[in-house]
Amino acid sequence: MTKRALIRIAILSTTILLTTILTGCKTTTPTTNSNSNSKILVVASIPPISNFVKEVGGDRVEVLTMVPPGASPHTYEPTPAQMRDLTHARALFLNGVGLEFWADKAIKAADNPNLQVVVLSEGMQILESSENAAGNPHLWLSPKRAKHYVERIRDTLIEIDPEGKATYQANADRYLAELDQLDADIRDAVAHFKSREMVTFHASWAYFIHDYGLHQAAVLETTPGKEPSAAEVAEIVEIIKRTGAPAVFAEPQFSPRAAQVIADEAGVPVLTLDPLGGLPPRETYLKLMYWNLEQLKKGLGADTP
Ligand SMILES: [Zn+2]
Repeated sequence: MTKRALIRIAILSTTILLTTILTGCKTTTPTTNSNSNSKILVVASIPPISNFVKEVGGDRVEVLTMVPPGASPHTYEPTPAQMRDLTHARALFLNGVGLEFWADKAIKAADNPNLQVVVLSEGMQILESSENAAGNPHLWLSPKRAKHYVERIRDTLIEIDPEGKATYQANADRYLAELDQLDADIRDAVAHFKSREMVTFHASWAYFIHDYGLHQAAVLETTPGKEPSAAEVAEIVEIIKRTGAPAVFAEPQFSPRAAQVIADEAGVPVLTLDPLGGLPPRETYLKLMYWNLEQLKKGLGADTP
């Protein structure tokens, strides 16, 4: 290769490099259309929180989810590759109350000074849990409490990306109104239930039960993933018969075996309640909760008003 050719290559490379830098800069200016590179990268621990972030963040934000749809946050630990996403993310939205048992390790490993860690349940009233000292973590399953999560997400995104303030505020206002509607729809439906006795897979519905005036008759697995003993099975069957609980609610993230055994013995049907969603037809929180409401109507016996 001649000296001149080498110089030409050098000039060409410099031009390409400069073009890349200039275009790179251009995409961050607010006048250009957003592309994936200019989006604010944030990480959410579970699908419902991820969906809240999408609703509020819209096109300005890219959300990654640590616990994938179909997995249970009680047992799933994010992979090292997932944890590495935290090294270049701007925020990590956690539920708290002990749900993200992997969080401390992941945050420490990420060593990212720009990462804002937001524990969404912080400052909220926590219901006690018999097997978890921190309390019951499933606050998002009560729409009224989910609204606090959405407000914290809105405030955090405004802090990270002040230019998007109007967008985040408008999106949050619209979505909060939808959550109010969901709350009203649940209230209406529950008023027509024939039974208020809930037998659920684990204590995931505690806040929902508390806020809508239902009653937790029994829980199949006090520790999710640990099947009930023969004595516990007999006790739950007895409770179902005594309270007249009309159904047993299983969960798609765990085997329905224990629920089926108990339901068969008690002579009631098994239905499903999904605390997490993330997959069609329950890919959004609203779709998830309306789907769950239909299951509750089937299980607890809705009067036709
Ligand atoms: Zn749970």
